Amino acid sequence: MLWDYEQPVAIRFGNGRVREIKDVAADMGLTEGGLLVTSDHFVHDGTAARLVAESDGALTEVFADFSPNPDVTEVDAAAAIIRAKHLKFVVAMGGGSAMDLAKAAASIALTDDSIADYHGTGKPMPLGHLPLIAVPTTAGTGSEVTCVSVLTNRALGKKAPIVSDGFFPSVAIIDPELTYSVPPHVTASCGMDVLSQAIEGYWSKGHQPICDACAIHAAPLVFKYLPIAVADPTNAEARQKMCEASVIAGLAFTLPKTTSSHACSFPLTNIHGIPHGEACGLTLDWFARVNADAQHGRVQEFAQAIGFADVDAMADAIHDLKVKVGLRTGLKDLQLTDAQIDDLVRISRHPNLYNNPVEITDDMLRDMYEHLAATE
Ligand code: NAD
Repeated sequence: MLWDYEQPVAIRFGNGRVREIKDVAADMGLTEGGLLVTSDHFVHDGTAARLVAESDGALTEVFADFSPNPDVTEVDAAAAIIRAKHLKFVVAMGGGSAMDLAKAAASIALTDDSIADYHGTGKPMPLGHLPLIAVPTTAGTGSEVTCVSVLTNRALGKKAPIVSDGFFPSVAIIDPELTYSVPPHVTASCGMDVLSQAIEGYWSKGHQPICDACAIHAAPLVFKYLPIAVADPTNAEARQKMCEASVIAGLAFTLPKTTSSHACSFPLTNIHGIPHGEACGLTLDWFARVNADAQHGRVQEFAQAIGFADVDAMADAIHDLKVKVGLRTGLKDLQLTDAQIDDLVRISRHPNLYNNPVEITDDMLRDMYEHLAATE
């Protein structure tokens, strides 16, 4: 087996460490011209203004004009500000949406192009980029340590990742206290994203030992701490452990890449508006059973390593976790027509599907979606 491992992002983890943004920037020689990309929530609660005020002039602009599952036009708008104001670095403080928008804007701003030219077109991103400091505020995507930016082109009805080595942040500052304000349903959905990334990173065709170890570390933390974080949002231990699971699951999947559940999540989010992590979790137990005996027993070994008797027991526990944290286990309320199920099957044939250890046919996808369509 041949494998390479590389992780170029410096990580600072711990409560209160968001205050280190200014020092981290100064260490990189960045004392002015910073763009803070952050979600509405942190504009409204005053955190964005406080960080700008405390930055001694390092942060000069705030961009919050974007939606969850950010659109390519929103990336272009942020890049236009970077170009117009000759900005020198970017701080992304938010969930995956803020970080992914910032990654793409920090790169595309050094060109005259639109990010749409590189989204789902196969055209490689230029590697040049402004320095990026990533500060996650959800325990979910792991985007702070990945070279992935997931964007949507609403005009074309397309959601897809762009992968570029230029997207790795320089530094990730993970401050669990920032996640206390995440509402319960968002916490639950993001936590399911963490679990999906750990499990899919492990069984991906691109698996490798260091990422396996990360997956085995991260997955049990989700089973243990996600229900606590959902029920008790300011529980310091649960929030801290979910943040730990999130960054380590990010390391688990960024090199091997995700697989079937992520492939299916894209149409579920795009067409039916199901939040990303919830959409991933919807099919995770199904694919666990499909993949149970793949890779000469590796998936069974994973289930056992994280404390289950076998993959079936792990799949049952995934289902139970969804129920416990209030996530969907089916799509019956959507009253899907045959044509809508056909669309889901067709659009699930995303490149990530080919990383799955078992070949997934259209008939398998149709069986799965028909089962979900009949399930509450
Ligand atoms: P998000 O960033 O879309 O945030 C969800 C909602 O929660 C938003 O309304 C946001 O404003 C709000 N929010 C975020 N932090 C908050 C806080 N601390 N308090 C209160 N509200 C808060 O959600 P997400 O799940 O973190 O990111 C999802 C996006 O990331 C999707 O587009 C997904 O495809 C992508 N993603 C990227 C990667 C990657 O490696 N780049 C991996 C997985 C998913």
